Amino acid sequence: MADAATERRFTPEAGCARCTQLDRARRRAAAAYDHSAETDARVLIRHHMRAEHGRELEVGWM
Ligand SMILES: [Zn+2]
Repeated sequence: MADAATERRFTPEAGCARCTQLDRARRRAAAAYDHSAETDARVLIRHHMRAEHGRELEVGWM
């Protein structure tokens, strides 16, 4: 049975190019104070983690 616990922190899956790409996009947006791009990246990361890795990120994850 899958563990339904949510995760507070996003940790890119080792070897997953999409995780690396999304993480990079989020960091770049944050560094540029581009709030809408950062939000977009966070949404994509949350969706990707759920769909591809079966991991649920908590609301407000770091
Ligand atoms: Zn991934």
